[in-house]
Amino acid sequence: MQGLAGLGAGVLSGCAGLTIREGSKAHVVVVGGGFGGATAAKYLRLLDANIQVTLIEPKAKYITCPGSNWLFAGLSNLDQLTVDYQSLQDRYGVKLLVDSVSSLDAAQRRLRLADGRSVSYDRLILSPGIDFRWDAIAGYDQSAAEQFPHAWQAGPQTTLLARQLQEMPDGGVVLMAVPADPYRCPPGPYERASMMAYWLRQHKPRSKILILDAKRSFSKQALFEAGWTKHYGFGTTNSLIEWHSLADNPLLELNQQSRVLTSEFGDHFHGDVLNIIPPQTAAGIAVRSGLADASGWCPVQLLTGRSLFDEFIHVIGDAANYAPIPKSAFAANSEAKACALAVTSLINQKPVAEPHWLNTCYSLIAPEHGISVAGVYKLDAAAAITTVKGAGGVSVRADVEAAALEADYARTVYRSLVADTFR
Ligand code: FAD
Repeated sequence: MQGLAGLGAGVLSGCAGLTIREGSKAHVVVVGGGFGGATAAKYLRLLDANIQVTLIEPKAKYITCPGSNWLFAGLSNLDQLTVDYQSLQDRYGVKLLVDSVSSLDAAQRRLRLADGRSVSYDRLILSPGIDFRWDAIAGYDQSAAEQFPHAWQAGPQTTLLARQLQEMPDGGVVLMAVPADPYRCPPGPYERASMMAYWLRQHKPRSKILILDAKRSFSKQALFEAGWTKHYGFGTTNSLIEWHSLADNPLLELNQQSRVLTSEFGDHFHGDVLNIIPPQTAAGIAVRSGLADASGWCPVQLLTGRSLFDEFIHVIGDAANYAPIPKSAFAANSEAKACALAVTSLINQKPVAEPHWLNTCYSLIAPEHGISVAGVYKLDAAAAITTVKGAGGVSVRADVEAAALEADYARTVYRSLVADTFR
């Protein structure tokens, strides 16, 4: 049945009722040209050049979130973080449609694009990333985010937040609200605080960053705190960074006028700059299409990445639930390769090989101080994901030389991940 699917449809285009089929090759459509989708499109073509691959992404250019925190320390800019899809088209023969998918007809295996075109598929890989839960903090919605940027999707929000930091008076307070797990890039908020502190230390040293965290603990916490102690006076009254767990006293409300966040027990936090990172879900197209469960994320059969709710749809990247693998670009790239391999096997009626997944997350605490966490994952006997013992861990050395080496690795891993995904 699945093999026959590979002999069917191609791209459908044009006005309602008009159907143009392009040949009889299996057609895989990938939605979302981020780290998951771009990798899947490229590796499908590398694995089987007979498969016709269409990538649908609304932006002709993509700005990477990885590296975007470095902008707050003046170590990167949006141009350096921008990639396009030329290589995917020219080198690998991926067909690019610059548009967004507005709806999905799973029964007909057909997508409707915003411009009215429709596209049919034999298999669909969705990697649409995240959306935000705008109901989590009263007073903080999509329009408030124009004034108080989350900057959790790199682009104009990142530039706006950097500008607000630069314009803040010396002695000002940056409030950073961090959500509970799971969310995109678990160490991201703490790297951001580090990069902001690095800049403030030089330009506005009397200022403070207050991290208001919905969690009791966070990724690489001991390494971050050791780095903050070394560089930013963490633990002293003059610390540039303070971390407060609000796990039992969640933030409930933002007063936009007074720039005050209020918690359940009535604590008030005033900030000059507010960086509110809301809780997240799988992106709208996945949720609207009924591919997410009550958690807000898309459950998948881990062997193939296939949705638990549809035989011909696979979901990868941040939108999917691959717990305990964190939601990162590195993980999305790894999930995409495993999924591309599974999809080519299904199309060619071959057994699906058991995947292993990798994750590595580097964070900069200062330009010459990097830290990392790495994990290797496999399926256990119950077909759940488990870590491969002894194959990962966090940075073990804290000396200056090792910290500088890890900072170099952070930059190198960024470049190679971008190259592996987009070039
Ligand atoms: P995305 O990269 O968000 O791509 C989704 C794409 O889908 C988007 O381009 C979007 O336009 C498109 N899309 C959405 N809806 C539709 C639709 N309806 N139709 C068509 N297209 C659609 N990860 C790391 O590994 N290392 C890091 O150092 C790192 N640093 C980070 C720093 C910050 C500040 C942040 C916020 C994240 C960081 N991450 C990092 C995490 C990383 O950015 C994400 O995990 C990764 O981008 C997930 O890839 P994805 O393909 O799932 O989603």
